[in-house]
Amino acid sequence: MKNTINTTNPFNNKSLNSYTLFTEQQVENSLELADSCFSTWKKTSVSERTSLLSVLGDLLNKNKAEFSELMTLEMGKPISQSRAEIEKCITLCDFYETNAESFLADDIIETEAEESYISYDPLGTILAVMPWNYPFWQVLRFAIPTVTAGNTVLLKHASNVTGCALAIQELFEQAGYPKGCFQTLLVDHKTIASIISNDIVKAVSLTGSEKAGKSIAEIAGKNLKKCVLELGGNNACIILDDADLDTYMDTIVNARMQNTGQSCIAAKRFIVTEGIHDTFIKRFKAIIENLRYSNPLDENTTISTLAREDLAEDLQKQVDDAISKGAQVVVGNSRNKLYFEATLLANATPEMDVFKEETFGPVAPVFKVKNLDEALKLAGNSKFGLGTMVFTKDIETVSKKVIEINDGAFFINELVKSDSRLPFGGTKASGYGRELSQEGIREFVNVKTVYIK
Ligand code: NAP
Repeated sequence: MKNTINTTNPFNNKSLNSYTLFTEQQVENSLELADSCFSTWKKTSVSERTSLLSVLGDLLNKNKAEFSELMTLEMGKPISQSRAEIEKCITLCDFYETNAESFLADDIIETEAEESYISYDPLGTILAVMPWNYPFWQVLRFAIPTVTAGNTVLLKHASNVTGCALAIQELFEQAGYPKGCFQTLLVDHKTIASIISNDIVKAVSLTGSEKAGKSIAEIAGKNLKKCVLELGGNNACIILDDADLDTYMDTIVNARMQNTGQSCIAAKRFIVTEGIHDTFIKRFKAIIENLRYSNPLDENTTISTLAREDLAEDLQKQVDDAISKGAQVVVGNSRNKLYFEATLLANATPEMDVFKEETFGPVAPVFKVKNLDEALKLAGNSKFGLGTMVFTKDIETVSKKVIEINDGAFFINELVKSDSRLPFGGTKASGYGRELSQEGIREFVNVKTVYIK
């Protein structure tokens, strides 16, 4: 088995760094350190824990340029979007600094006892398995509430962003978190089964593909350990005849093209009613033709290469399948290794892979429908369930349809996005459990009943 991780800049294929994978002994040492740290960390007060969040936020701010560059070098995100990601992490620190104490406070419940209440106690060491597409945000949106609730964390990050994984561990240490509170493990994903089955690990959180989700859920299930799964998505973006395209066209395009289309919550199926269809196509085309592809370190770059060549290859297969079944390329569909031109496909149908599967890149298929009911039916016809968005002026009618959407999120006149204040997660093949908000900080706690007669 290979014992190194080599990272490469996806834009120019230049080698970045090489890391040696942990030996079994090193993994064992990390587990024990996490466990011994937990025995003291769990006894600290929530206010003591939240006070470190402001230091963490300050350090993110101080190191914003360095962290942003690291993300861009490792996974190719345009630098302005890397900076925005770090800024979002800072707001996450602020949010839990302000709210964690109230989220974790005992809930007094009146019963016939002298005193009865719910106590939200930490579980222990939690394993996080994370993806590369938002290298800082995905990790921190899990780790900040989890550590603030009194748990310790072990991170197995996607191998192509190992530099980010190590920078995040250093960030926690510099902020004053005790050694062992947050550790990065340099391990192959094949080692995950033995880590989950170790008694020290109490639960696992995965953000990643459906395939990884099935594997981790199976291992966690065998070991009777809780898991939270944040998996893929195939969000529908419904555009109704009365949509205000003057106001929202940029938002709609951004819903697909942000992070060069490599986002779980991206709009991946554009379902457009016939009265606005042709205008929508024209305006979408005009915007994506002006996206600027260049070195992602360049400030003006708005679209970049994909993070790995196999992602571009998979995307090409999906587009080829659509064309073979009658889709029309309005613009795009040229590829050079990891680069995939922003692509707009008209005449897309549900028989195509671009409808059935998650497209993880800058490809926008458009499905023409007659009305809202047909649009909602098509939107719901997916094995995934992360989110649906609708653009319309008739908010009254559309908001009555909330109950018909079986996803984790329903957004009207906004792209589906994560927000520290609101729960985030999916249904069906998009996974289960929630991150962020009060729901997220209570995922990895023991909801303990205390009863004093
Ligand atoms: P991925 O291949 O599933 O990898 C994610 C993580 O899981 C990596 O650390 C990876 O390690 C590990 N992994 C891969 N296969 C595994 C397996 N069989 N068993 C255990 N661990 C395994 O996904 P990705 O390509 O990095 O990320 C893209 C996917 O993540 C997309 O489907 C996207 O929609 C989803 N995602 C979901 C959310 C959400 O919040 N719902 C957010 C972001 C991304 P290695 O790197 O070592 O293979």
